[in-house]
Amino acid sequence: MAQLSPVLKQATPVLAERGEGVYLYDKAGRRHLDFTAGIGVTSTGHCHPRVVEAAQRQVATLIHGQYTTVMHEPLLRLTERLGEVLPEGVDSLFYMNSGSEAVEAAVRLARHATGRQNILVFQGGFHGRTMGAAALTTAGTKFRAGLGPLMPGVVVAPFPTAYRYGWSEDEATRFALRELDYVLATSGAPKDIAAFIVEPVLGEGGYIPAPPAFLEGLRERADRHGFLLIVDEVQTGFGRTGRFWGHQHSGVRPDILITAKGLASGFPLSAIAAPAALMERAWPGSQGGTYGGNAVACAAALATLDVIQDEGLVENAAEMGARLQDGLRKVAADHPAVGDVRGLGLMQASEFTTPGGEPDPGAAQRAHKAAADRGLLLLTCGAHGNVVRMIPALVVDSGQIDEALALWREAVTEATA
Ligand code: PMP
Repeated sequence: MAQLSPVLKQATPVLAERGEGVYLYDKAGRRHLDFTAGIGVTSTGHCHPRVVEAAQRQVATLIHGQYTTVMHEPLLRLTERLGEVLPEGVDSLFYMNSGSEAVEAAVRLARHATGRQNILVFQGGFHGRTMGAAALTTAGTKFRAGLGPLMPGVVVAPFPTAYRYGWSEDEATRFALRELDYVLATSGAPKDIAAFIVEPVLGEGGYIPAPPAFLEGLRERADRHGFLLIVDEVQTGFGRTGRFWGHQHSGVRPDILITAKGLASGFPLSAIAAPAALMERAWPGSQGGTYGGNAVACAAALATLDVIQDEGLVENAAEMGARLQDGLRKVAADHPAVGDVRGLGLMQASEFTTPGGEPDPGAAQRAHKAAADRGLLLLTCGAHGNVVRMIPALVVDSGQIDEALALWREAVTEATA
């Protein structure tokens, strides 16, 4: 009898049958408050009626157009609409299905456009699991171990991680930029570097927002040395952080933007965006794929954009995120095992540490399980697995935030008793 591979590691034991907004219902009819949103994907909530309607309509019209063979309307309309939300001039688009594929497409474009090979990444960054993306990923050795020689040409520099060293954000930024210059002077020759790739908030690596001054420092060095600045907005995009794009918490302009996850409310769709002049430095046919820009996924993305706009979900993410962070800080104040609370918008996390300040993955896992036992679904992250993150759909309301916080308080109390 066929069975699921034991390589699957499932965060919760839930067998989901139905989803509605921020809730999932299992086969027994039990309701779970879903603060994972399918790893930050169901931006408009599970099965938003307008997304369902748009997808159903498209399924009955054209499922698979295949845009490297024939063009289709949903993709053209989506491209036009994305132009309204993308950073000015960064509006030439190419579509794929997953975050990893889009990361690889961005690297391909950066190499083609610059004629240079190397990519500079920041320690703790997560960019995907396909072999090229895995080579760029330093969010944990579990994503690299046993993979043999990965893609060469990846240069690693530190990300500003204030909490780990007991620093202020300014001190962490100064350190990271100084180290970056040292890396550029010692191992990563600037003339060989095609691009930096950076997450506006380190995601799988522990939910650490990039200080604006750090991103500005990257922009300045990119301009000075002729690198491209790639922002990986796979997790931070589409309103998640309380701005439409995570990098918009700074004044920095990216050269290539990568989006996926929240873009289509659960349908597989991803894209890279760059100025047309940059895309022109590659050539027709240099990017492709069988399923990219699927017509149903594009229709769902159009509906997602409508819902985000009409329901004010970016503003809601900012407001609800502040409420969530405030509540998490109150829980942390009563539980010393939570050493830090941080995040932007609806991307919030609690880091568990021992009294000596060392990572405490055991406490994080106990809290995660105690929350799931109470019907609150969460995810862990961080290189040591000692960070518990909350990433609810952008439609979450204040009652649901308070409900989650009450369950979280009980879970942390049980986990650290
Ligand atoms: N980049 C970032 C910042 C991500 O968070 C993820 C997924 N967690 C990826 C890339 C990879 O996306 P996918 O799993 O869709 O390949």
